[in-house]
Amino acid sequence: MLTGLMMDRPLSIPDVIEYAADVHPDRRVVSSAVEGGIHSYTYAQARDRISQLAHGLGKLGVQPGDRVATLAWNGYRHLELYYAISGIGAVCHTINPRLFPDQIAWIVNHAQDGILFFDLTFLPLVKALRPRLPKGLRLVLMTDRAHCPDDCDALIYEELLSGHPTRFDWPTLPENTASSLCYTSGTTGDPKGALYSHRSSLMHAFSIILGAPQSFGRTQRILPVVPLFHVNAWGLPFSAPLSGTELVFPGPRLDGASLFDLMQSEGVTAAWGVPTVWAGLIEEMRKRGKKPDALHSLLIGGSAVAPAMIRALETEFGITVLHGWGMTEMSPVGTVTRPDPSQDIEGRIATSIPQGKRIFGIDMKIVDDAGVRQPHDGVAFGELLVRGPAVISGYYNDDAATAKAFDDEGWFRTGDVAKISAAGDLVIVDRTKDLIKSGGEWISSIELENSASSHPSVTIAAAIAVPHPKWDERPLVAVVLKPGAMVTQSEILDHMAKTMAKWQLPDEIAFVEAIPMTATGKVSKKDLREQLKSHFVG
Ligand code: ADP
Repeated sequence: MLTGLMMDRPLSIPDVIEYAADVHPDRRVVSSAVEGGIHSYTYAQARDRISQLAHGLGKLGVQPGDRVATLAWNGYRHLELYYAISGIGAVCHTINPRLFPDQIAWIVNHAQDGILFFDLTFLPLVKALRPRLPKGLRLVLMTDRAHCPDDCDALIYEELLSGHPTRFDWPTLPENTASSLCYTSGTTGDPKGALYSHRSSLMHAFSIILGAPQSFGRTQRILPVVPLFHVNAWGLPFSAPLSGTELVFPGPRLDGASLFDLMQSEGVTAAWGVPTVWAGLIEEMRKRGKKPDALHSLLIGGSAVAPAMIRALETEFGITVLHGWGMTEMSPVGTVTRPDPSQDIEGRIATSIPQGKRIFGIDMKIVDDAGVRQPHDGVAFGELLVRGPAVISGYYNDDAATAKAFDDEGWFRTGDVAKISAAGDLVIVDRTKDLIKSGGEWISSIELENSASSHPSVTIAAAIAVPHPKWDERPLVAVVLKPGAMVTQSEILDHMAKTMAKWQLPDEIAFVEAIPMTATGKVSKKDLREQLKSHFVG
């Protein structure tokens, strides 16, 4: 083997913001501020404040490898923390404030965070958590002195930056240096930490720009509804500055009306988020009889997107849907759909129903129960395993979870059941633990949900398995009806019979007021099972 004669310059996160400040200096970052009002500055000004923050962190004594936690909405200060913390060689540990307080305390202790930065909104939460947080944990309130309540003894973010130089001499770090840490939401057992590196973050950022080119570029303004507090807002904090895309951060206001207003006033062209968020936006767009003027596409992922949602966005509003699949352990994007501009609406809808094609760097394989590889023919299905430079190689300080997560060849087990077509389109059949095993056959909860939610009276549907004395498990589908809609169980079942075999149809439809959601805005099947316990037979 002959080694190439090229410089060994490591991939590095602070290079991204220095590049944006140099090449896209006037492109803007707009934030709906926690204190109210709109904050707007350029990438050049962001770089200046990030440098000041890096000096401030040094003054606080932050050392390479230290974990520095954040509990914050999508806004400019959170973006600054991403770059400054990783840039000095420390680890930016984002925490999801929607987790149960017990889980947050568990995570801070497991990560052994030394400092916690938090938004004003979370002051009551931090106060309540304090007795359970590590002794010596330093607290920094992400605001200025004027907004800090008198009884708060935390350090003040703006004071940490104040007076420092607007340039920082970033250390040259090996590219595998840990940059950031995110815990899974722990729907199965304790949360598990994915520890990203400078290299993995940049490889992922390049790949999503290539995979979803519609969202990026100097003519685009992207609104991440996906939170900076969970899986790096799907990589947007890196991909946007790299590509000169402007960022519009929604802060704490994520309801349909607030999102619509911000998109309209800021000329947002693209937005990324989970399906439940877009349900709120669709309702708002229907009320106002229009979409935000500049909005042309939504990337939807995190859970399966119901075909009815894709159809509504494409046909009622002319918004292109990109459907993506991924996991915390994959940084997180794995696949995204690639609609072809020459396709008509029906063609685009059909393209967006599967979960898409792999982004560069992700390899996928499907195996049966014995671990034997299955063909990519759109028919054979089995467990999906992945590998790539932005996929974890183990969980942070968790040997037990790591031991179960990989096969003998080192591929990561996703816990999803899937098939892949000859053209490379991934179809997620279900999470292994959500599949309904009825009389030796599998029924996909995603197919049941897609079928039920395509009924015109249904807003959202969620399917779970209920124990059954003869069939082991049978499906139960919970539905939330549109306001004022009147429909019977048999009408919904007749509708579902158009797309599903008779034995796959649920024995019962449960009409509910609301479906419980997880901390990441997905249907919480665990809570739904609990809620519908009285419907179980036997
Ligand atoms: P959490 O946010 O709950 O910690 P993740 O975000 O890592 O967990 O969830 C990843 C899982 O979400 C995937 O393994 C898959 O089951 C599900 N998922 C994500 N995107 C999609 C999608 N587009 N279609 C179907 N399932 C999806």
